Amino acid sequence: MYSCGPTVYNYAHIGNLRTYIFMDLIRRALKFEGYRLIGVMNITDVGHLLADSDDGEDKMVKASREQKKTPLEIAEYYSKIFFEDIEKLNISKPEIIAKATDHIGEMISLVKDLQDAGIAYETSDGIYFDISKFPRYGCLSGKNREEQVAGARVEVNTEKHNPDDFAVWKKADPSHIMQWESPWGMGYPGWHIECSAMSRKYLGDYFDIHSGGVDHIPIHHENEIAQNEAITGKQSVRFWMHGEFMQVDGGKMSKSLGNIYTVSDLEKRAYEALDFRFFCLGAHYRKKLNFTFEGMDAAKTARQRLNQSLLQHKLSSTSTNKDTLDIYRKKFKHALEDDINAPKALGILFDLIKEEKSIDIYKLSLEFDSFLGLSLDKLKEEKKEEELIPVEIKDLAESRLEAKKQRNFALADELRGKINILGYSIADTKEGYTITKI
Ligand code: AMP
Ligand code: ZN
Repeated sequence: MYSCGPTVYNYAHIGNLRTYIFMDLIRRALKFEGYRLIGVMNITDVGHLLADSDDGEDKMVKASREQKKTPLEIAEYYSKIFFEDIEKLNISKPEIIAKATDHIGEMISLVKDLQDAGIAYETSDGIYFDISKFPRYGCLSGKNREEQVAGARVEVNTEKHNPDDFAVWKKADPSHIMQWESPWGMGYPGWHIECSAMSRKYLGDYFDIHSGGVDHIPIHHENEIAQNEAITGKQSVRFWMHGEFMQVDGGKMSKSLGNIYTVSDLEKRAYEALDFRFFCLGAHYRKKLNFTFEGMDAAKTARQRLNQSLLQHKLSSTSTNKDTLDIYRKKFKHALEDDINAPKALGILFDLIKEEKSIDIYKLSLEFDSFLGLSLDKLKEEKKEEELIPVEIKDLAESRLEAKKQRNFALADELRGKINILGYSIADTKEGYTITKI
């Protein structure tokens, strides 16, 4: 299985993370069903331009310029946070993680094969894939050639043979900060060639599943198919699986609306990453999911209820008869086999825990959790109020303690005021302080 991974130029937002939870659910469902799985996920650290087609600046180069760091520093920083986030969300890490900049040789070799086969051609600014050499172009999104030509943008690159021909390799001018030697001079790869070169390297010309977000269907994945199949003439991927988008308050996430949230934003609002995972489990991957804080509150409460009930099952010494357990097991398996129906699977778990308290129910829930990934094996007693205090409040309280030590009482009072405004009160004790929700 190959999954399109993150472009590591910024924090992953909850929409991106929904797509990786979806990837994880495919992985877990396959393993639940007893399949052996080799999963590959790429890390894009070069080549992804601002638009998915050939327009604009490279996202990594732009971030590097704006944040005054080298592309390598940008990639390392955001990759680290990405892997921390997916760990918190219990997303199982694919067996092979492939960084684009470690595979430039493979990309050049694929571009060369395409050029040698007469499928790609050179222009003054790069090497382009000639889509007229691949008559099935558009097969994934069901667009035919006429529609593509009619819908094509006004073309600026007059050297292209067809308006939708796309760059597999770009020539770089000397000032470009990411460039490699190639048979066509210094340059850098196109984003689409990356996924073709890496899937080919690790999984061969033919593999079972390719996943990604729905936005990849019309360009990125059409281009991958063209690159993979134009030379071999054979279908490269058996099943394409696409996760629908997450919206916020019924609309698109965007910087200008200030509604792009990260895992750390959710944590600051006293949600756990697994509350978000639970929230995502409530919708089928083919359906749009609308993120709201009311929805998150409901997910958080339902998860607490689930955990509390399971703790009681865990402590019970009663058993449940095997036939009853088997009925639930069968229903759960059917839900997974019904196009990975996570909401249905979750509903079956909620029905199960309503049965009379029994240790067998707890054990069966752990079996189900190998798919759901809610860390049901790590349940602890309800957290004390103290542990539920948001980090932001704890930080303010620490700064206030420090201000008091420095005898800066004006600042200490100001910080107390801020803590109050955010809905908490602070009381001094011999050891330091205690915080409570107002
Ligand atoms: P990127 O890092 O921009 O390449 O995107 C990473 C993944 O997130 C891709 O598979 C996208 O399809 C997916 N994605 C981007 N925005 C959303 C969204 N709002 N909801 C769900 N998935 C998304
Ligand atoms: Zn990809």
